[in-house]
Amino acid sequence: MQHSEHMNRCIGCTVQQCAHHAGKDNFCTLDKVSIGTHEKDPTEPQCVDCESFRLGN
Ligand code: SF4
Repeated sequence: MQHSEHMNRCIGCTVQQCAHHAGKDNFCTLDKVSIGTHEKDPTEPQCVDCESFRLGN
C-alpha cells in the first residue's frame, strides 16, 4: 500500500488489491497508467483494463 499523500487525484481507482493503489483513498499513486483492452471490439466498460495493475496489497 502506498501513502495517500502521493496519490494522483486525476486517476480515480477502486482496485485496492493493486500495489499502486493509494489505500483508504480511491486513487492511483502513479503519474501515468496504461489502459488497454482484452477484446477485439470493446463495447462496454468491462472490456477495458488497467494494464499498469500489479498485485500488491
Ligand atoms: S495501476 Fe491501475 S489498477 Fe493499479 S491503482 Fe493505478 S489505476 Fe488502479
